[in-house]
Amino acid sequence: MLKICILLFLSSFSLCSFSSESAAQPQNKMFPNIIEGKIIGNLYDSVLNKTQNEEWAKLLQEAFKDDFISTKGLKVEATFSFETVEPSENNSNDNSDDISFADPKSDTIVYARLVVGQALVEKELSLNHATNSQSLLTKIPKAQEREFISPVKSERISSQFKLTRRHPVKRRRIQPHNGVDFSAKSKTPVYPAMDGVVVAMGRARAKGKFILIEHSNGMKSTYDHLRKFQKGLHVGDYVEVSEQIGEVGRTGYATGTHLHFGLIDSDGFYVNPILYLKDYQVDSDNNEEFSEESDEASEII
Ligand SMILES: [Zn+2]
Repeated sequence: MLKICILLFLSSFSLCSFSSESAAQPQNKMFPNIIEGKIIGNLYDSVLNKTQNEEWAKLLQEAFKDDFISTKGLKVEATFSFETVEPSENNSNDNSDDISFADPKSDTIVYARLVVGQALVEKELSLNHATNSQSLLTKIPKAQEREFISPVKSERISSQFKLTRRHPVKRRRIQPHNGVDFSAKSKTPVYPAMDGVVVAMGRARAKGKFILIEHSNGMKSTYDHLRKFQKGLHVGDYVEVSEQIGEVGRTGYATGTHLHFGLIDSDGFYVNPILYLKDYQVDSDNNEEFSEESDEASEII
């Protein structure tokens, strides 16, 4: 429900007055600035059904090929949305209602979003209509916006953030993995990824012992499957990155000792924590994927 509200909210900022129904136009220049739809099956068909435009369907399919498989086996809702900013709008500071059309020789900037359950992946792309070429401009957030540091010393990541992940045990079930799993030995110290206030801590069936911290940038971080909390830590405490908050464990549904670390943006969506960690900055702007993940230390939800 939350994501629907947000998508509707975003729609209200569309610079033109077309309804989304007018998306079914053959020419790109007639598109409204924001197009959104439900994903049923694969992304290509879902975008094509909504827009009747193969160019957009191909663009989104290619952009999210490493993030999304299909809704087959998925128990939560999946939606796509994308906003197009035409070249003539890029340098425009006025708020007139005039609709700007693409210059066919220049690039259109496309901000594309996929939401699966509560998990969000955003991409910024450029699309050249003349050559029909597309490229990933940058991952969102941009490198300079990374304000977090790794909350644990870990040899490796046992499972990445994924919109659609095959269940580690029940292989036919697909679900989002709303965080990243840092493989680490039991009792390894866990620190806040950024200074902040403990807004929740306790024990839940799946997450096990968990801590939720709110930060000054409006984001929240979660630390799950903890063996124990740091003595004296309470809800309401202000904690700094140098202060230990707990120990790595395997409480809740976990196949091995690891820290499940999650980041929630200011709109309430889970985002890929790796893109916000300073210490992963080297690898995160070159569009390289991390090596194939293993599920040996992960959740069994
Ligand atoms: Zn996890």
